[in-house]
Amino acid sequence: MSMILKTKSSAQTIKLGKAIGRLLGPGQVVALIGDLGAGKTTLTKGLGSGLGVEDPSTVMSPSFVLIREYEGRLPVYHFDLYRLDNLDQVEGLGYEEYFYGQGLTIIEWADKIKDLLPEEYLSIELSTADEEKGINTRNIKIIPHGRQYRDIVTELQRSVSPLVSVKRNEQGD
Ligand code: ADP
Ligand code: MG
Repeated sequence: MSMILKTKSSAQTIKLGKAIGRLLGPGQVVALIGDLGAGKTTLTKGLGSGLGVEDPSTVMSPSFVLIREYEGRLPVYHFDLYRLDNLDQVEGLGYEEYFYGQGLTIIEWADKIKDLLPEEYLSIELSTADEEKGINTRNIKIIPHGRQYRDIVTELQRSVSPLVSVKRNEQGD
């Protein structure tokens, strides 16, 4: 039951993130996957906004550290693993304290630590669309892993289509 959407501007991606962020709760993990410039940090700004981070403009990719923390209606842990060279670095951060804690974890480049992700998480894949569709178009695929995230996607399917164009909804995981 994954959901495929298309946004046509960074503002739409932020709106989508906000809608998702509103549905997220403590102890949950969002794994963002996509190339540089795909919109992971942009989506994270929206997620932060939906999570009650007061100044989402403070949401930016941690350049020289792997993690930033924001205070929303719950703590938000923002990992960016672009510069990650080996898994020891994540282990050195004590990642489990974050992933399995009471805050909400967002991980850019989550595919780099596939084996360390919890059993249940929300995966969001972003990619630039075909050239002719315009440079501001992004394809976004939301894939739930686990019941709690399937519920979130079900809720999103109800609420999000007026915001962005929903390309198609797939049945089955
Ligand atoms: P990443 O974190 O994946 O490297 P960023 O979010 O930092 O990507 O950058 C995405 C860039 O693409 C930003 O400059 C943003 O303004 C631009 N952009 C254009 N259209 C979109 C869109 N539909 N969604 C997200 N970002 C977009
Ligand atoms: Mg980024």
